[in-house]
Amino acid sequence: MPSGLPDPGKIWNDFVGNPVVQLAGQLIVLYVVLLWLGTAYWAFRDMQARTENPILPYFAAALIIFFTPLLFLFAVVLYLIVRPRETLAEVYERSLAEESLLAEVERNEVCPVCRERVQNDWLVCPNCRTRLHRVCPSCNRLAEPEWPLCAYCGRELDRPERPSRVAAAAGAKGSGARGDRAADTTPERKLRGVTNT
Ligand SMILES: [Zn+2]
Ligand SMILES: [Zn+2]
Repeated sequence: MPSGLPDPGKIWNDFVGNPVVQLAGQLIVLYVVLLWLGTAYWAFRDMQARTENPILPYFAAALIIFFTPLLFLFAVVLYLIVRPRETLAEVYERSLAEESLLAEVERNEVCPVCRERVQNDWLVCPNCRTRLHRVCPSCNRLAEPEWPLCAYCGRELDRPERPSRVAAAAGAKGSGARGDRAADTTPERKLRGVTNT
């Protein structure tokens, strides 16, 4: 060890013995401990958001605590790997989206005669010319062909000119339950139409 240079060990001891450095060291230790406890709390809350199980959040926090302030970052990595992928809110949102998608699919009607996909606000099937809806003459909204009166304004609706020629023809061919149903209800409707006018 060259005598001209200061002793590294002494420098280190001076450095460590410096009250400012000691204070800084204590603050760092305090900070790490707070970080450790805060992370445990975060894991607790995070698990609460991801499971309805009342016990698991405590396990998550215990995992962080168990790894001590020195190693708890490893526990964080482990926790991030094993925690449930979705939060309960995300699960709820996804199920809502799926439900609305399902409803959308159900709303997408098919033509009762040719089974082509039709929009629910079309008047006529563009493929086979079956009448799908009528326009209420009173409120101009779309009425289902089998409605005896308008559901929106209550106006009595005329029987449509026969349950649409094409539909009847298709019904005769035996292709549509809808055609049969329309045929079944026709006399009753006519009767009601007559008594009401
Ligand atoms: Zn059609
Ligand atoms: Zn109407």
